[in-house]
Amino acid sequence: MVFFIFTCGTHTFTSPLKGYENVVVQCQNCGNISARPYKRWEWFTFCFVPLIPFSLKPWHEVGCHICNFYQDMKYRPDVTNGQGNVAMGPYGGGGHPPGGPQGGPQYK
Ligand SMILES: [Zn+2]
Repeated sequence: MVFFIFTCGTHTFTSPLKGYENVVVQCQNCGNISARPYKRWEWFTFCFVPLIPFSLKPWHEVGCHICNFYQDMKYRPDVTNGQGNVAMGPYGGGGHPPGGPQGGPQYK
């Protein structure tokens, strides 16, 4: 007997954002210095196989592992300004963004 079970769902790939691995910022939800930049990419799955990405590009979020609060990185300009050195302050920096996308989920 064969059952055809079509299971649809979503799968979210989450990985540390390249170039921001050492960046820890304050969570705007719980106030802890525990939020890290993540790359999140949500896919539509069919029979547990990721088929279609919901968006063309992964979006960048700042996520807190304590309260599970995720926030789009565009609302956190302090994160991108302080890349690689949180203590540098809002006018520090001078670094340039890392190269093209590397790693992450593979797709055609
Ligand atoms: Zn939090």
